[in-house]
Amino acid sequence: MRKQIVAGNWKMNLDYNEGVSLFSEIVNMVKDERKGDQIAIICSPFIHLNSLAKLGGNDVKIGAQNISDKESGAYTGETSAKMIKSVGAEYVILGHSERRQYFAESDALLAEKTKVALANGLTPIFCIGETLDERNNGSYYEVLKKQLVEGIFSLSDSDFAKIVIAYEPVWAIGTGLTASPEQAQDIHAFIRSEVEANYGFNIADDTTILYGGSCNPGNAASLFSQKDIDGGLIGGASLKSRDFTDIIRALN
Ligand code: 13P
Repeated sequence: MRKQIVAGNWKMNLDYNEGVSLFSEIVNMVKDERKGDQIAIICSPFIHLNSLAKLGGNDVKIGAQNISDKESGAYTGETSAKMIKSVGAEYVILGHSERRQYFAESDALLAEKTKVALANGLTPIFCIGETLDERNNGSYYEVLKKQLVEGIFSLSDSDFAKIVIAYEPVWAIGTGLTASPEQAQDIHAFIRSEVEANYGFNIADDTTILYGGSCNPGNAASLFSQKDIDGGLIGGASLKSRDFTDIIRALN
């Protein structure tokens, strides 16, 4: 069964106390809004994970925003998948355009990180997306396909079936420009057809594909009503408890 998910990406915002306080508000609000199998997730900076995992219960799951591609050892400053899992986080965002762009994360590195996440029982939320230039010059299907092929299409069927994909057009992130529901649906259908070509109908039909990029309470319902859009990956609006909860309510 395809799952409906709204995941917040706090990025590098909120000190420890601010994070705990916002998260407590979110848990209180979300527990009355989340229906049945819908999944709410907050992906916080590492410093919050341990505390948030204890507060979230079944209502709000916890994820990280990055992991090392190494299992353990002399890698100063890195944090491993096993460490994240050990504090109760269940998800990790991988392939976010900010990490591809500012931290030079390549498709090959992201393929490694995805394998390490899965080997340690974390669910990757694997992001792909094209830049404005790539959208304007018409190369975006090729760009997205390369990110899929090199990042996640070498996974086995059973591993692939565990991951979540997020389509985040780079030109829509933090800009206030959202892909129209039709533009987003077109890409989500394309992603699902590529998954089907590699993994077959059943896995493709069950794969959760999220939209991210200036998603807010005003546009979430029209995006989520598209047949291949299964929820959202939310940046700015996840820093406001009311907005985040309203976006969860917009799941159909
Ligand atoms: P905004 O919702 O702030 O555009 O950010 C989207 C995003 O990057 C989520 O990962």
